[in-house]
Amino acid sequence: MNGIKACWRGLVSLLFPQRCLSCGKPVEAGRSFCTRCRKWELTEPVLRRLEAFLPGGRAFLCVAALPYREEIRGALYRFKFRGKRGMAGAFAQLMEAAAGKEGLLQRDTVITFVPMDKKRKRQRGYNQSEELAKELGNRTDLPVQSFLERTELKNSTQHTLPAKERRRNVKGAYRAAGDMKGKRILLVDDIVTTGATLRECAAVLYRAGAGEVSALCAASAEHSALSGQCFERFAH
Ligand SMILES: [Zn+2]
Repeated sequence: MNGIKACWRGLVSLLFPQRCLSCGKPVEAGRSFCTRCRKWELTEPVLRRLEAFLPGGRAFLCVAALPYREEIRGALYRFKFRGKRGMAGAFAQLMEAAAGKEGLLQRDTVITFVPMDKKRKRQRGYNQSEELAKELGNRTDLPVQSFLERTELKNSTQHTLPAKERRRNVKGAYRAAGDMKGKRILLVDDIVTTGATLRECAAVLYRAGAGEVSALCAASAEHSALSGQCFERFAH
């Protein structure tokens, strides 16, 4: 982070003190949780190994900063559906730490995000994954590029579907945009549950020539349908 940015961040945190992601109480600068809620902060990121929906598969690492527990669920809900766009900063801060620990923030990394269909973005005013990607880009000085587009309003009810149907539902929902040949891409999303969306997006990126894809999310569902394929480390 350069000097001007650090200065600006300091001023912003003075005028708009950061709030605890869980209970909303003001917290000291650079903190995401208050002392009471700090137990939700993980000492180690959640790691999951996913495979892109490609013939023969192609494994990629998915890192999440938080467990998708009740308290975090509430925070993500406010961030996504209650217009609390500014919460992206606190999430991105935790995501940066998690990604850094796992070596996902290399000098040649390009950040991208899971897109939202235009109609929904208009209604909500922003795409939460894009906000997280931008904040992460600001913090790390890594470029953020939009490499994916939604093809149509297809998987709008994704979160209510069983795992098997999710895969069918996301198939063909995204297409590649821009030149990503040989690039090291970090794909950002807010929550990973079954991983179907990330797997489909990774497949699209790989097909378009991406060199290496990894995924970074704010939170990961604890009980995944793919539990046999993932390993998770939680704080105690
Ligand atoms: Zn709190």
